[in-house]
Amino acid sequence: MNKRYKFFINGDWVQGDDYYELKSPHTNEVIGEIPKANQEIVKKAIDSANKTNKTMKNLSAFERAEILNNVVKIFKEKKNQCIDILIRENAKPFKAATQEIERTIETYQFAADEAKKIAGEIVPIDAAKNGKNRLGYTKLEPLGVIAAITPFNFPFNLVAHKLGPAIATGNTVVLKPASQTPLSAIMTAEIFEKAGLPKGAINLIFGSGKDIGKWLTKDEVIKMITFTGSVEVGEKIKGESGLKKIALELGSNAAVIVEDTENINAVAKRCVEGSYGYSGQTCISVQRIYVKKALEKEFIKSFKEETSKLNIGDPNNKETDISSLITEQDAKRVESWIGKVNKENIIVGGERNKSVINPTILKNVSNEFEVSCKEVFGPVVIINTYETLNEAIDLVNDSNYGLQAGVYTQKIDKAFKCFDEIEVGGVMINDIPSYRVDQMPYGGVKKSGVGKEGIKYAVEEMVEKKLCLLNLNK
Ligand code: NAP
Repeated sequence: MNKRYKFFINGDWVQGDDYYELKSPHTNEVIGEIPKANQEIVKKAIDSANKTNKTMKNLSAFERAEILNNVVKIFKEKKNQCIDILIRENAKPFKAATQEIERTIETYQFAADEAKKIAGEIVPIDAAKNGKNRLGYTKLEPLGVIAAITPFNFPFNLVAHKLGPAIATGNTVVLKPASQTPLSAIMTAEIFEKAGLPKGAINLIFGSGKDIGKWLTKDEVIKMITFTGSVEVGEKIKGESGLKKIALELGSNAAVIVEDTENINAVAKRCVEGSYGYSGQTCISVQRIYVKKALEKEFIKSFKEETSKLNIGDPNNKETDISSLITEQDAKRVESWIGKVNKENIIVGGERNKSVINPTILKNVSNEFEVSCKEVFGPVVIINTYETLNEAIDLVNDSNYGLQAGVYTQKIDKAFKCFDEIEVGGVMINDIPSYRVDQMPYGGVKKSGVGKEGIKYAVEEMVEKKLCLLNLNK
């Protein structure tokens, strides 16, 4: 009999009426039965968060930081269990799973530190003609109930990017994780429970986003929606969310320009890491590489060599780099997109074995193809060439997305030009677009989203700036 999991509502673990089977993407074995929320459960979760607002608002910065520090401590103790969950529910290879948990711990630590820095400001009211003898100051107050909707690909760390700042600011949360990754959310809720979080401050529900999402996005008690996921779902949520605050962290087809370098092999090696890390299922995976024509031969040779060193297989194996995509359906989609490209443009790969796509290198593929203009979310990269830097910048910008970009150059003027002219949320000079640490501002332009994450920046999104004005005139 498979283990039946529960919702977490108002500090209690609550059974469901209806369940779905959770299968491991790599082995296809059933690893648990997950309750599906109905409208009543969603409402209970929202009500629980709502009635806990006052308790959370009354916690001091010290108390909120202490809870988050406890979360950090317990996550460190449970590191191996968390890695195991990522391998089982997510097919995340051991190496990548370990990195994710280490980052998750750091994210919660940044949130604990940030909790103590949240402060308003003195407003110089007397700078106005009519402001003499008045004192103004702001206080940053929690919004209330935040709905957090998260994707499958970093189920611990992206949940941390929602819960960390929400608890640091004294908000309450209803969390709906991706249907494929509930176990990481359950472990996270258990850790918060042990860490001393007041009952009802985090409520955890499950079920198909398509079916239950609207009961979150349309509910007027909810003051903010923080969503990470695909553009299609992000646009739908924005359309439904009325006057709520919203943060949307969406997809991309991230690009890197290789203009000049002293070490082409090192650049190629780093690009391989960016293209195939977690089998390409990251929002800032390197999908498009634009290499200066003169460097093409050497770059492709080195890129092929590095790609051939990747280990494909069981996510449990400590050496594995590439494993199953999240579903076989996704692997079939990626295969079909590769299939639309001319055979002579496939340098390496293209094959599918069940849910695994072999690392694939494509060459000279124009922007009309799905593998270029859409988000592949698989281990596929395109290498195209260009003659001038202006041309390369235009190619990078010829995209509906704009999350991050990378530029390799030794010339400072070219670096600044790229920073100024590339339309993305962040430009990595002499690195790949896939670089991220969890305290930096992170978020896209164009269809890559609205709002910023990175703890300090998410904190700014999750507070209301309230003004107090004192009339000191006698
Ligand atoms: P997804 O299909 O958009 O799902 C994301 C979340 O939204 C899941 O919890 C999903 O639930 C839920 N959902 C689906 N339909 C909904 C609806 N109508 N209303 C409310 N919620 C709904 O994304 P994914 O496949 O899990 O993740 C991959 C995507 O996330 C990629 O596009 C990737 O680029 C993006 N991403 C972006 C960032 C970033 O920071 N910019 C980071 C990581 C990933 P179900 O699972 O039940 O469908």
